[in-house]
Amino acid sequence: MKVIDLRSDTVTQPGEAMRDAMYAAPVGDDVYGEDPTVNTLQRRLADELGFEAGLFVPSGTQSNLLALLAHCERGDEYIVGMDAHTYKFEGGGAAVLGSIQPQPIVQDEDGSLPLAQVAAAIKPVDPHFARTRLLALENTWHGRTLPLDYLREAGELARANGLGYHLDGARLFNAAVACDVPAREIARHFDSVSVCLSKGLGAPVGSVLVGSQALIDRARRWRKVCGGGWRQAGMLAAACLHALDHNIARLADDHARAARLAAALRAIDGIRLLGQHTNMVFIDVPAERLRALDAHLREAGIRISIGYLPTLRLVTHLDVDDDDIDRAVAAFAGFFGAH
Ligand SMILES: *Cc1c(COP(=O)(O)O)cnc(C)c1O
Repeated sequence: MKVIDLRSDTVTQPGEAMRDAMYAAPVGDDVYGEDPTVNTLQRRLADELGFEAGLFVPSGTQSNLLALLAHCERGDEYIVGMDAHTYKFEGGGAAVLGSIQPQPIVQDEDGSLPLAQVAAAIKPVDPHFARTRLLALENTWHGRTLPLDYLREAGELARANGLGYHLDGARLFNAAVACDVPAREIARHFDSVSVCLSKGLGAPVGSVLVGSQALIDRARRWRKVCGGGWRQAGMLAAACLHALDHNIARLADDHARAARLAAALRAIDGIRLLGQHTNMVFIDVPAERLRALDAHLREAGIRISIGYLPTLRLVTHLDVDDDDIDRAVAAFAGFFGAH
C-alpha cells in the first residue's frame, strides 16, 4: 500500500528523471566557485528573479540566516513577523550566531505585518537602541499569499527608513502560481529573496539566496563560516535545476488538490475546516480524538503530523495524486463515521 504523506511538502522522493539528472551533472569544487552546475543554478535563479547574484545553500534556514548576517551586523535589529519562520522556527539563529536582535510584530490574518506597527517599531538613531536595519517578510506564510500592493508599500516604508528588505520565499513559486504572476513580480520588491527547492518543487536538498553581488559576497563568506561551504554540490544543484524545469507549473495541481481535499473534509461531521491556502489545508478536530485519528489514518497508510493543538495542517505535493486525495478523504470519513 502506498503511504500518503500529508505532513509536509518536504517529504517528496526524487523521481527517476531527477536522479538521472543528478547522476549526469558536471561537478567541481564549489568553495572555489568551480562547480558548473551550481553556478548554472545560481545564475539561473538570479536572472529569473531579477538579481545580480545567487548562492546555493543546504537549507532554507541557512539561506535566511546568511541573509540576516549579510544585511545586519552585531547589535543591529530586524523587524519580522511574530509567527514568521525566520523568527520562530529557526532556533533563533540570527540572535545566536549573529547577535542580531529580532523585533517581532504580531501579524494580521493574512501574514502581513501592519505597516503602522512596522513604522512604530523602527528605532531612532540613538545609543539606547539597537540599529533597525532590515524588514523581513514571508510569502507564502502558512500557505497564504501576500498581496502585491502590500509588498510594494512595505518596500517603500523600508526604503524610506533606510532598511534592507528580505523575503523568506521558501514557497515563492507557490505564491507566484497562486497569484498568477511570474515569481519575479513578487521578488522584484525585495533586496534579497530566499527560495527553497526542497519543498513543493521536489528537490531532495537545497535553497538559493539571491541579492546584489555585494550582499551575496558577504553571504558566501558567512556560509563558509557556518560550515556550509560545500564541494561537488552540483549533484544537488542538478536536482534543483530539474525541479525548476519540471515542477513549477504543476504546483497548480497541488493547490487544486488541496482545494478538493478541503471541500471534502468540510462536509465531514467532527472536522472544522479553518482554511485552505495554496497547497495547505488547515482543520480542527476534537483534541481528545487526535491520537485515535492519527492511529486510524496510519492504519490506512496516511501520515499526518499531530502536535498538542487540535489544528492539523495537511499539505499536498508532488507525491500526492488524485486517487490519494480520495483515499485520504475516505479515511477521514471512516474515522468520523460519515459515508
Ligand atoms: C521550510 C521553511 C524554511 C526553512 O527551510 P529548511 O530547508 O527546512 O531549513 C524557511 N521558511 C519557511 C517559510 C519554510 O517553510
